[in-house]
Amino acid sequence: MILVVLENQRGKIHPFSIESVVAGQKIAKSLNQPLSIVCVGDNIDNIHESAKQFECNELILASHPLLKTYSADGFSKIMIDLIKSYSPKYCIFGHSYMVRDYVPRVSANLSIPFISDITSINLSSQNIQFSKQVFNAKLLSRIENESTNGCLLSFQSAAFSSDELLQGAPKKVTNFEINLNDSDIRSTTEEEFQESSSGVDLSTAELIVSVGRGIDNQDNIPIAEDLAKALGAELASSRPVVDMGWLPPFRQIGSSGQTVSPKLYFALGISGAIQHVVGMKGSKNIIAINKDEEAPIFEIADYAVIGDLLEIVPLLTEELRKR
Ligand SMILES: Cc1cc2nc3c(=O)[nH]c(=O)nc-3n(C[C@H](O)[C@H](O)[C@H](O)COP(=O)(O)OP(=O)(O)OC[C@H]3O[C@@H](n4cnc5c(N)ncnc54)[C@H](O)[C@@H]3O)c2cc1C
Repeated sequence: MILVVLENQRGKIHPFSIESVVAGQKIAKSLNQPLSIVCVGDNIDNIHESAKQFECNELILASHPLLKTYSADGFSKIMIDLIKSYSPKYCIFGHSYMVRDYVPRVSANLSIPFISDITSINLSSQNIQFSKQVFNAKLLSRIENESTNGCLLSFQSAAFSSDELLQGAPKKVTNFEINLNDSDIRSTTEEEFQESSSGVDLSTAELIVSVGRGIDNQDNIPIAEDLAKALGAELASSRPVVDMGWLPPFRQIGSSGQTVSPKLYFALGISGAIQHVVGMKGSKNIIAINKDEEAPIFEIADYAVIGDLLEIVPLLTEELRKR
């Protein structure tokens, strides 16, 4: 069987988990294996309600008051127990902060491999191939699992699109009996980390206007802000803009910033360096404005505007305001 683990993000299914359900549905279909989905946490009624609409064979509920706040001890213990009782061929997660923290413990405890931060899979090869970026996204490595005792997988945001989620109803719902005591949890947990202290969650934004070094200086940032406002979009940036202090760090997109997959990503004066692209390549539509027609961003852009952003963007904003 294939097991997908849903993460409870403040009462909602974490968007990365929805994408991992898509991965699970595809892998299960390709291997002709049953698919189970597990909701883990305390007070999982909301995520259970949403998960009831996903096509799968079984929905497993693993709820316990000691899972109210995250702890690597608690979550890894539950996961180890779940894997021991279900023996899934693949156990699938979204590559969230929590997963980065506790899943390596599960892997070490059970002596099964963990292929993390996967960006794509090849289901047509005899053995499934998992691709992930290495050397700061300069190379792509392909990995095949040879373990017969199961394997843990985590998928990078936007490796799969939630638009491809198959709706349906689980054939059965099972309560998983949890055996967890206070003494199992040896660490104390600090307040939950939020993607940004400002409350801006770029990872769930549908429209993003992102600004790069091509904006030239801090005084021009309002040009991008005005476009964002006219579109109802969030403002983001490449790293140099943050390094120069023109925008705060929580707005940075890329390998050392946030990963986003909006419906529309406006790249203004961004060259398209790989460290930036890894954070936004999952965007459904990319419009790039750049005065260099050879800028690498145009290789992934759906719409390429070759020209000076300082001239084009104010005109665009003006037109949008007329709507
Ligand atoms: C370890 C490491 C981690 C990194 N992490 C990140 C990360 O998380 N995010 C990130 O973004 N970068 C990251 N970088 C930096 C990355 O390598 C690039 O340097 C950076 O993305 C470039 O930003 P940029 O496109 O804004 O600037 P540039 O590469 O300088 O590009 C500016 C672009 O603007 C265009 N331009 C100039 N003027 C105009 C104009 N008037 N109108 C239109 N276009 C114009 C130019 O043609 C050019 O293409 C990282 C680097 C390292 C080594």
